[in-house]
Amino acid sequence: MNSESIFHGAMKPEEEHRRDICVVGRWIKEHGFAASTDGNISVRLGPNRILVTPTRMSKGMMAPDDLVVTDLTGRRLGGLRQASSELGMHLMIYRLRPEVNAVCHAHPPYATGFAVAGMALDKPLLCEMVMDLGCVPLAHYGTPGTSELAEAIEPLVPGHDAILMANHGVVTCGYDLLTAFQRMETTEHFAHVAFVSELLGRQNLLTAADLEKLEARRVRHVAREAAGTEHDSAHAEYPNDAAADRVTLTRRELESLIDEAIQKDRAHR
Ligand SMILES: [Zn+2]
Repeated sequence: MNSESIFHGAMKPEEEHRRDICVVGRWIKEHGFAASTDGNISVRLGPNRILVTPTRMSKGMMAPDDLVVTDLTGRRLGGLRQASSELGMHLMIYRLRPEVNAVCHAHPPYATGFAVAGMALDKPLLCEMVMDLGCVPLAHYGTPGTSELAEAIEPLVPGHDAILMANHGVVTCGYDLLTAFQRMETTEHFAHVAFVSELLGRQNLLTAADLEKLEARRVRHVAREAAGTEHDSAHAEYPNDAAADRVTLTRRELESLIDEAIQKDRAHR
């Protein structure tokens, strides 16, 4: 494996998650998605263990030992540094979205420009965007480092995998870290395309029939992701937790989870 590549999957040894977060931190810097020590990344290691980037450190300069382990209440369980000041936002997402195992927050300039302008990314301009993310809504402003930030985005979290944060940036989540990062890339790319089409003064939107077909594909994708069957084996377990934390689902339970995810997704359309 290339030292700068990571693979899909949430069921990995902790040391691999640590390495993956450092790689994604470098990508965030190289893509210009964050300046200085901005941005934060986390991964769910198990039912009550979160691995998160430290505060006041460039995301491009982190080593695996710089990362911090906390529980779902934010109590530090491991690491010498302080966890990100936006940890509360990450924990809220993990509590509301049991199928989510990774969260990325950054300030990519085009998407953040839309957030500063008070404009959601909600026009059906690109098929890939509709299929992967639906739309990217805009949450109202919340002061960074306070509970206001999590409260501002909370109502949008159950129905969206990427959210613009007014006068601030973007937060994305996914079944695994690579998915969460790629959603950050997709959001920024879409914002760039939307910006160029605004400059050109013309936007041909996808039709209702186009959207219906894309929506059907998106619902199937969401269901697979909710069941965790897309990237990891159905028998995979959190490798970092005790056997007592493992959950085994029958086929019927798995199917009902998929149905529930489809209903949830439709309810938020
Ligand atoms: Zn931020």
